[in-house]
Amino acid sequence: MGRWVYLMRTIPNISSLLQPLEDAIRLKLFPSITGHVACATGERELFSLPCRFGGLGMGDPTAFCESQFDASLRITAPLKDLIISQVAHVHSPDTRSIKAQVHQHRRKASKKRALEIRNGLSSQLQRAIDLNSEPGASSWLLALPLQDQGYHLTKQEFWDALHLRYGWTLLNTPSHCVCGSPFTADHAMICRHGGLTFVRHNDLRDTTAELLSNVCTNAAIEPPLQSLSGEELTPRSANCQDDARADIHARGFWGRRQSAFFDVRVFHPNAQSYRNVSIPSVYRRHEMQKKREYGDRVREVEFASFTPLVFATTGGMGKEAITFYRRLAELLSKHSALSYSSTLAWIRCTLSFSLLRSATMCIRGSRSISFRSPDASPEMGLTNGPRET
Ligand SMILES: [Zn+2]
Repeated sequence: MGRWVYLMRTIPNISSLLQPLEDAIRLKLFPSITGHVACATGERELFSLPCRFGGLGMGDPTAFCESQFDASLRITAPLKDLIISQVAHVHSPDTRSIKAQVHQHRRKASKKRALEIRNGLSSQLQRAIDLNSEPGASSWLLALPLQDQGYHLTKQEFWDALHLRYGWTLLNTPSHCVCGSPFTADHAMICRHGGLTFVRHNDLRDTTAELLSNVCTNAAIEPPLQSLSGEELTPRSANCQDDARADIHARGFWGRRQSAFFDVRVFHPNAQSYRNVSIPSVYRRHEMQKKREYGDRVREVEFASFTPLVFATTGGMGKEAITFYRRLAELLSKHSALSYSSTLAWIRCTLSFSLLRSATMCIRGSRSISFRSPDASPEMGLTNGPRET
């Protein structure tokens, strides 16, 4: 697409000439990347939105070529004036402020357009757009398919990922799950048969602990909490078991030498029990549940901090997790040559692919009754989280 954009920026009035390109995108490209026969008009508008607004970042070239040319004219105007005047300058003209204005204008226009398109969609698709617009939820779509980073997807995985993103009916799946329920995407995300949902939890836990080990001391998974010896915890639902464990421990994360515990939870926002609840409320509910379970014990007995890391299967995360990964990016960027923003983008991309691979595994993985995950034990956090319906 970059080469086409170059054409749009350098040649005016080519909208009609780009119609064959738009036809190829609509009739050939989209069917091949979605697995659908054709791309409906409403879908085409949705796909034209930037990924962060729930789209696929594939705009209609006949619609945005003029704005590309106008933006290019504005940005290069100071340089053009210099060339015409033939006055020698030591420094090239600073076009950063013009670029910033152009980008700001483009962002505002995209946001307005996204809102208009969203309002014309079904309530189910609106919720999908809201989930896809969460920070980090679309990172996998923006990544280069680098094999050494694990950012490559097979054709089937890519199709499944798009079907999950837009709530389409999955292709080539069994009619029923081994548990007897009809096999749908929403059921696949919450069915505990085969231990696939636990593998999803453990993958996020291990990935996070590995990142922490680069910047903290004593980073460990499943650290046992000290036994209670008469301490009274509040509330009553607090975890008082002798063999209680958090998911991750690290020292020196929030403060120097300060001990910190973290616990991961993944929920499926399209499960029946959450469908009529706002997305921020579901995150908050899970964060509060985790804090009730561990917060008081970790604070009073371990003299440490506790942070719940709550994820949606769609790639978004709760407020506390957002703050946690921002802090992690800050610490990691100090230990590397990468900037804070690049480090945060890399972390979000890694988490996004972890959730995406887990999601496709929940769809295509084996749930045969004899299968038992090697991690399938309560000690490894497999009892983590309430059963979703
Ligand atoms: Zn099932």
